[in-house]
Amino acid sequence: MKTSALERFLRYVTVDTRADEQATTCPSTPGQLVLLRQLADELRAIGIEDVVMDEYGYVMATVPAAAGLEAAPVIGFIAHVDTSPEMPGHDVRPIVHERYDGRDLVLPDDCTAVLRLSENPALASQFGNDIVTASGTTLLGADDKAGVAEIVAAAEYLMTHPEVRHGAVRIAFTPDEEVGRGADRFDVTRFGAVCAYTLDGGSRGELEFESFCADTINVTFKGFNTHPGYAKGRMINAIRLAADFIARLPRGEQSPETTEGLEGYLHPYQIHASVDRTTVTVLVRDFAVSRLKEKEAFVERIARDVVAAHPKASLEILVEESYRNMREAIEKHPRVLEHARAAIRRAGMEPTETPIRGGTDGSRLSFMGLPAPNLFAGEHNFHSRLEWVSAQDMDKAVEVIVRLCEIWAEPR
Ligand SMILES: [Zn+2]
Repeated sequence: MKTSALERFLRYVTVDTRADEQATTCPSTPGQLVLLRQLADELRAIGIEDVVMDEYGYVMATVPAAAGLEAAPVIGFIAHVDTSPEMPGHDVRPIVHERYDGRDLVLPDDCTAVLRLSENPALASQFGNDIVTASGTTLLGADDKAGVAEIVAAAEYLMTHPEVRHGAVRIAFTPDEEVGRGADRFDVTRFGAVCAYTLDGGSRGELEFESFCADTINVTFKGFNTHPGYAKGRMINAIRLAADFIARLPRGEQSPETTEGLEGYLHPYQIHASVDRTTVTVLVRDFAVSRLKEKEAFVERIARDVVAAHPKASLEILVEESYRNMREAIEKHPRVLEHARAAIRRAGMEPTETPIRGGTDGSRLSFMGLPAPNLFAGEHNFHSRLEWVSAQDMDKAVEVIVRLCEIWAEPR
């Protein structure tokens, strides 16, 4: 299936949409609004009539159902327009390396930026394809402008192919995913779909519906400060208590440095220290809430043990919930995954299902009442100067979207 995804993608990446964690506005940066407005215009240009951009920049629109399929379930597709704040995103110069043959791809603006087959095993399945990179000094922004381009291209395909049998299809483009706020102002009711698919994943065929359960624990040790010259028998140094606590956290196992796959971890992440009061922030991650809670109970136990040795010290523990494994919410709607697998197969691929060792907007949306697994968009080397995507993978993602729309409208 030949689509307009590449041509659109090459335009979208030139708009600087880097998110800003410090900003309190929504979107966090004005460049995101520029692209969101442009997308609203492009959706209108392909004939979609109900395009709306709300006060926070969220763009929503509907591809109307094919004749006679107005009662079919309404499904949705979502992508985010912002790019990671960790990397420069201005003056992105996309380069299409045609007919990849295993050669080193040297990015011209920085000769140390070289995309090598030996370091990127995913390139092995791209021979003959056209690989898009940036020029060496910026990220590319395939995360998630590849997903954005694929959704617009699929909408265009549906609008120009009346023979495709599909129900109404909702589209949303969102800001500030990279700073964890993309779901904050997403109006699930207004979106009005039974489920949605985010297009923000990696290799061809990927389907992701499992994410971490995540909490943050703030462990505060309260000591007692005096002039250190006259501290004998009186001072209780909260920094020493915190150090003792950190030393008791697992290291050889259950740490980010030693875990992968379905293993969770405890990650001492930040420390605010003084003799009087020291707070250690620990990130807790696991795929099951029960195991998350076990890890939290362990943290609490070692913190209490540390403080128990110092009668005048005290402890405060605060647990904040970040997000939950979306699998729990998605598996209540088995068709959402069944249809995704069927669509990937119908587009000629075998689905691969790997857990995300992190969270997505879909994790939050799934618990807000919109089951939202993640589909591949062809993105590789997220948040890096060596980010790349292939034109053929983008076309494949468009095909999966179109097949999904058909499958959801089939009588059953
Ligand atoms: Zn993304």
